[in-house]
Amino acid sequence: MRMADQRLPGLVAPVPANDSGGLPLFPSPQGLDPGLQDFLEQASQLLCQWLGDSHLHGPRPGLSLQPSAEPSQGGREAAALLTDLQQLMAGGFRPNHPGALAHLDPPPLSVSIAADLIAAGMNNNLLAEELSPSLSRLERGLCAWLAQALGLGPQASGVPASGGSLSNLMALVCARRAAALQGSLKGVVITAAAAHISLEKALGVMGLPEGALWRLPPDAQGRLQANAVAAALGRCRQQGLPVIAVVATAGTTVQGLVDPLEELAALCGREGLWLHVDGAIGAVCGLVEAQRWRVRGIGAADSVTLNPQKLLGVSKPSSLLLLRNPQHLQDSFGTGLPYMEPAHAGVHGGELGLQGTRGAEVLKLWLSLQHLGLEGIETLLAGAFQRADGLRHRLAPLPLAVLPGDLHLVSFARQGPDQGWRDACHRQLLQGGFWLSKPALAGQPLLKAVLGNPFTTDQHLDQLAALVQQSCLGAKR
Ligand SMILES: *Cc1c(COP(=O)(O)O)cnc(C)c1O
Repeated sequence: MRMADQRLPGLVAPVPANDSGGLPLFPSPQGLDPGLQDFLEQASQLLCQWLGDSHLHGPRPGLSLQPSAEPSQGGREAAALLTDLQQLMAGGFRPNHPGALAHLDPPPLSVSIAADLIAAGMNNNLLAEELSPSLSRLERGLCAWLAQALGLGPQASGVPASGGSLSNLMALVCARRAAALQGSLKGVVITAAAAHISLEKALGVMGLPEGALWRLPPDAQGRLQANAVAAALGRCRQQGLPVIAVVATAGTTVQGLVDPLEELAALCGREGLWLHVDGAIGAVCGLVEAQRWRVRGIGAADSVTLNPQKLLGVSKPSSLLLLRNPQHLQDSFGTGLPYMEPAHAGVHGGELGLQGTRGAEVLKLWLSLQHLGLEGIETLLAGAFQRADGLRHRLAPLPLAVLPGDLHLVSFARQGPDQGWRDACHRQLLQGGFWLSKPALAGQPLLKAVLGNPFTTDQHLDQLAALVQQSCLGAKR
């Protein structure tokens, strides 16, 4: 039902403007405000210019001037604010530079940028349905679609979270409760040496002692083997230790390896254990037919972490925890919200996870998926894997040890002792406009390229490989 008149003309006070440019402190509820529109257009112009100027800079800025961190006494005018913004942006990392290959931080999808702006302006709150009526429904609908598209079953759904670390934490809290171990300091989590460091944080927050995370040595390629897990389960039984969960990874952070999910799921099914798949990087492959084979078995997990902020390019933060049985979220995090009306069409967002107030992260994810379509997702993923294959192919003839990987990450070392080669090569690549990262694996210094940047062309890969080759020659003694 509509209220007869929702406008309250006499009651709306004029909104104070802070400067002669007419930029209002708050957007007026009474008609389009040209001062606001003008400022947003100028800010948008600034951003578009910054994005378009990336080719004039390297992916990583040098030292730059910083605007003041502290507020001035009287507040600054619109023009000065834009100048400050520009100064700050000049010192930013440029994710859309074709040589930005260091990390899992691709350029943002265009519609994702617009959705972030709209979400900020709407300022709805996913804590409760009444504070975000349409967005709460959208969030439920999209979480259910994502979880079911991964194959987690007809009841599956989940909740967004501010990053994969939080998604992993919530998964383990649910798993511990499902194993009736909440409040207990016993219980281990079994995973691989290469699993993400956020698991240590999660167990620490859960109050579990150091040593509760069993990191098993991987097979020769780096993946977690089901028989190693089975042996570990035997040791747990001997020591009388209950198991909270097995955590498999779909896309390790250094190599992009996918653990054998089918076998691990079968083992966990037999043993009645919770399988969490940390698919922050790779789970997105399960959404489309042509790439699903890369994460075969993911649909048999109990819970999955998926980060659209990584391979898909949705702007940060964008992560979700998806569960076969989403009731576990409510069981673990539902408290009742006594100061809210009941949710009409489901459960309040604030009862499904650790976060209370949440912005509309769902908006940029939804708009991005709408714009891409399933074919667009497939093309985007295929492009990243093609570039990774292309780089592997170009590096193969060089005197390098290129590590195996299943996704769009390529890590490599010089054959034989490093003797400073890795850091020298890294410097030469930066001078040539390519930024790779410098991880280490079991003490071995590596260079890592993440091929999630759609602006990296075959010509760029040729240049990159040529620079690596030169540095190999230069290091010859
Ligand atoms: C990035 C990553 C995470 C953590 O995600 P954040 O969003 O950085 O918190 C967890 N697991 C894996 C495998 C990752 O690559």
